[in-house]
Amino acid sequence: QYILAIETSCDETACAVVKNGTEIVANVVASQIESHKRFGGVVPEIASRHHVEQMTIVLAETLKKAQLTIDEMDAIAVTEGPGLVGALLVGVNAAKALAFAKQKPLLGVHHIAGHIYANRLTKEFEFPLLALVVSGGHTELILMKEHGVFEIIGETRDDAAGEAYDKVARTLALPYPGGPLIDQLASEGDDTLHFPRAWLEEGSYDFSFSGLKSAVINKLHNAEQRGEEIKREDVAASFQASVVEVLSTKTHKAAKQYGVKQVIVAGGVAANKGLRAELNRIFAQENMELLIPPLHLCTDNAAMIAAAGSIAYHLGHRADWDLNANPSLSLERYSLRNKRDSC
Ligand code: ATP
Ligand code: MG
Ligand code: FE
Repeated sequence: QYILAIETSCDETACAVVKNGTEIVANVVASQIESHKRFGGVVPEIASRHHVEQMTIVLAETLKKAQLTIDEMDAIAVTEGPGLVGALLVGVNAAKALAFAKQKPLLGVHHIAGHIYANRLTKEFEFPLLALVVSGGHTELILMKEHGVFEIIGETRDDAAGEAYDKVARTLALPYPGGPLIDQLASEGDDTLHFPRAWLEEGSYDFSFSGLKSAVINKLHNAEQRGEEIKREDVAASFQASVVEVLSTKTHKAAKQYGVKQVIVAGGVAANKGLRAELNRIFAQENMELLIPPLHLCTDNAAMIAAAGSIAYHLGHRADWDLNANPSLSLERYSLRNKRDSC
């Protein structure tokens, strides 16, 4: 079974072909980071225009790399949401056009389901499993008892982890996206500033990062006013220590409470060296398997959309020709659809 997938939810135009939901045949990502850098973040209108320009080029390159034609595909999968509406629309319309022209089944995929299924490109899932999703727009703990069905047990009440990284980076005058740069600086500094940890109420698996972000900004402001010098490396290391401690502690607790077999990490922040090291340390002592995708599968790509699409295909879910981009598609509604279609 071959699935062709398209992903255009944010600032990468991506296409991929995946075999049997687990094997990457071709995976092409055209990043627009250079175009957005000078604005300090993603500009939606620019993103849409780039997707229009890149779509057919990336698609052609993907099929060439796969040495396959669209006729040989079993279905076309596409990210229908969440994301930037104008960006999503480019992918959704491209997928619909291809599927209609070639009379192939069309599959709508939730972007976060994709991030989670990036892990299935490296290892088969075992349920129940717990997924820690840490990306530019999401920070969630998700419990899965079966394929395609996602239960959110905790989520951020304000900023996403990646968003906090990017905002703190901006305060330190680092270019967008700042996550990887903070990660690098953190490895050269020490946790000397003792920023707060937002644990929230006892037993809650929710997260909050805006207080931490403010604490970093205040610290830098106060130091500046007093003419004190704080090492950027220490700011990065202290900020990262707070983020990593909260993320890994809550993930550990939830994994034990739900007695899961696997813990998987997904989304751009899963590329973080500090987070990877701490989770590896914690779960080395537990009888659970920890899965973290290789770096190129942590950030946005279409192979993960094909992997999640393969499950939708198995469950019998087919999108109609009126499939539309849904910028606020909820993971729970997406799960319900998968459940219903499997009956
Ligand atoms: P979403 O998936 O929620 O819609 P997104 O697709 O924009 O958001 P991703 O592409 O999954 O997010 O991840 C991008 C985010 O990951 C950015 O915020 C970036 O700074 C962050 N990031 C990438 N690498 C690292 C790293 N090594 N350390 C910390 N953050 C990182
Ligand atoms: Mg991105
Ligand atoms: Fe993403």
